[in-house]
Amino acid sequence: MLRFAPSPTGDMHIRNLRVALFNYICSIQREEPLLIRIEDTDQKCSIPDKEKEIFEILSLFGITYQEQQLQSNHLKFHRAMALQLLQDKKAFNCFCSPATLDAKREAANENKIPYRYDGICETLSSDQVIDNPLPFTIRLKKPLQSITVNDIIHGYSTFAPDDIDSFIIMSTDKYPTYNFACAVDDMLADVSLIIRDEEHLSNTPKQIAIHEALGYIKKIEYAHVPSIVGDDTISVKWLLEEGYLPEAISNYLILLGNTTPVEIFSLKEAIKWFDLKTLSKEPTLFDIEKLKFINREHLKGLDPKELSRYVGFADEEIGNLAKLFLEEISTLKELRAKIGAFFAPKNISDEYKEKVAVLRVLTQQAPHFDDYHSYKEYLIKKSGFSEQTLVKPLRLLLSGLDDGPEIADIYMYLKNYLKEVVK
Ligand code: GLU
Repeated sequence: MLRFAPSPTGDMHIRNLRVALFNYICSIQREEPLLIRIEDTDQKCSIPDKEKEIFEILSLFGITYQEQQLQSNHLKFHRAMALQLLQDKKAFNCFCSPATLDAKREAANENKIPYRYDGICETLSSDQVIDNPLPFTIRLKKPLQSITVNDIIHGYSTFAPDDIDSFIIMSTDKYPTYNFACAVDDMLADVSLIIRDEEHLSNTPKQIAIHEALGYIKKIEYAHVPSIVGDDTISVKWLLEEGYLPEAISNYLILLGNTTPVEIFSLKEAIKWFDLKTLSKEPTLFDIEKLKFINREHLKGLDPKELSRYVGFADEEIGNLAKLFLEEISTLKELRAKIGAFFAPKNISDEYKEKVAVLRVLTQQAPHFDDYHSYKEYLIKKSGFSEQTLVKPLRLLLSGLDDGPEIADIYMYLKNYLKEVVK
């Protein structure tokens, strides 16, 4: 079982999506199910219903999964296991108030030594615990030995007991902390490979310590995905609104900091060769220009009818018209603006107003011409304009633009909409 475990605390950003894609790809490659676990146990930060948006994005990107879960439905398991750890004396109740802990942390800072929990509540007798009316957290006793994490991307990292410390697994409100809920749920789901952002690498020894304390000995594989720096918190929703195709975004996120056999590919193709081991250990810079290039390549690869749908039509000819712009523009938003401009009222400068007005009336009265040449001949004959003086106002009438693709090409794809375009 693999899992993707987003927190519903904000818009899904590209780092989350990259992790989701890698989990999806590896689950298919390994023929293991994928679980989507919404980590909603952080009472203060979770946004109600945010998971709907997460599932919508996963579906839009073709990320299929076999199981889904709300972590808050597992609170009974988290509490039962915390109790078990207390009974086994692997965890203890801690009555230190936040103010006391803050003061000790500050003192450590002043003395320029790393703050560690001083173990004061670990030695309380059962009577001192039972009779204590104060709110308490539950801490896991720090491990006796170092814990080594073997990561597919980063290799080995060893964490000393003091670095792991006696950390909190249950808060005073009886809710599990991230590390505890995550470790328990990964265990219950029998997860075999955890792929997540590298910001969690320092949490991994804590989660391993929890597994060890619970007597869970299965060796889980880990891959901590290096960060994207720069605009790493760009939301997926924003990219979609800007007109980047899901296939292009996936392509970019798989390519980023990776060695791939080709530069432009589909998710389906990536499943054939993707390997976590070829990812660079180093953080990679988010480069919107590269994403634009990739988006353009994917737009070029679309069948004209499909492309036309993205710009609000269902007509192959409009798709072909849109393709004429794919050398200069890179997003659907820009493309929609280009196509929309043909149908919008045009702003004509005084210099061309008269000629454009003549051509407009003639076009409105014109029969249907299948080719540009006949249309042009008709306009020349009826208006008395020379071919040279006709070109500029005609371009303005049809496209509202000073330059752009050949008018003959524009005409070819727009001829069925001519009356609407010049109105
Ligand atoms: N909920 C965590 C996050 O969104 C992910 C934890 C994990 O994958 O273990 O950062």
